Amino acid sequence: MEFIDLKSQQIRIRESIDRRISAVLDHGKYILGPEVEELENLLSDFIGCRRTIGVSSGTDSLLIALMALDIGPGDEVITVPYTWISSAEVIALTGATPVFVDISPDTWNLDPDTLMSAISEKTKAIMPVGIYGQTADMTRINQIAQDAGGIPVIEDAAQSFGATHHGKSSGNLSSVGSTSFFPSKPLGGYGDGGAIFTSDQELAEKMRWIHLHGQSAKNHHPLLGVNGRLDSMQAAVVLAKMEIFEDEINLRQKVAGQYTDLLSDLPVVTPKVSDGNTSVFAQYTILTPLREEIQSRLQEAKIPSVAYYAVPLHLQPVFASLGYREGDFPVTESVAGEGLSLPMSPYVKSEEIDEIVKTIATVVR
Ligand SMILES: *Cc1c(COP(=O)(O)O)cnc(C)c1O
Repeated sequence: MEFIDLKSQQIRIRESIDRRISAVLDHGKYILGPEVEELENLLSDFIGCRRTIGVSSGTDSLLIALMALDIGPGDEVITVPYTWISSAEVIALTGATPVFVDISPDTWNLDPDTLMSAISEKTKAIMPVGIYGQTADMTRINQIAQDAGGIPVIEDAAQSFGATHHGKSSGNLSSVGSTSFFPSKPLGGYGDGGAIFTSDQELAEKMRWIHLHGQSAKNHHPLLGVNGRLDSMQAAVVLAKMEIFEDEINLRQKVAGQYTDLLSDLPVVTPKVSDGNTSVFAQYTILTPLREEIQSRLQEAKIPSVAYYAVPLHLQPVFASLGYREGDFPVTESVAGEGLSLPMSPYVKSEEIDEIVKTIATVVR
């Protein structure tokens, strides 16, 4: 059994991928070829924003957004400690200070109740993450940011692209959105890539310059930038994937629904999708104090599982100088200690879910 079944997907879209990659090989515009612009326009239409910029990774897209907002030394950016390291890494890379706030016990996303007290006069951005496939309470987060004087909100939608919050698409819920095309993400390609979204034309232009070495026109570099381009091959793959993306979201929701049904009889916590949210289930993650036992029983049955973010970011050695300690973020630490992600993709078979749940039941019953 695969943890994420990318093979079944490839078989489904192989013809389109072959055709699109051949087109790239034929025209030879490997960098900033027509596929990149086609994908940018398609993604703008898909989430309803005005501008999309294809970039080299989800990490670079967050970095470019921070750079475009002129964030640097002396500034603070608020994010969560329960996420992939990119979210905080990019803040530190600009020279700004990551400020962590705890997650909510329901969605495991940034808790708006703890956000207010973390905002200071140094706060230059708030970066909520849509962990495991659903967005944070962006309505309340935007309101708090607005009330605090219009602090920009950068939505890290690497895992939640394709999800919605009160009918609006993840990636288009705040000042800037960001996603990743890392293969295991809901909209994964076959390599590294990502995209930034905004409807702020001025910010879009700045981000476009920054992703091209700060270049605004040939031989003219008004800003410090990076090599942050998405390449034509990856854009071609993601274009093929977009043909089936909505169907894949439905399939993911079906898989998650079956997991939740079957697990409801067992003493494990299953993921809750908030009212007003839909989830793309980047992962299907349960909470259980018997994580180790379940993981080894699953492993004996050749069923892969992963304990993501088991050491949360505030306890990572790289961020030791920030001065956080164990106990600072109780919800994060509890979810980090009990979270276990089960095989998830649009192509998990019904019999496989049965087998996984039966194996878990032998431990928790
Ligand atoms: C994967 C991920 C990223 C980074 O994306 P890359 O394309 O791997 O750089 C950022 N944030 C979150 C929450 C992620 O899951």
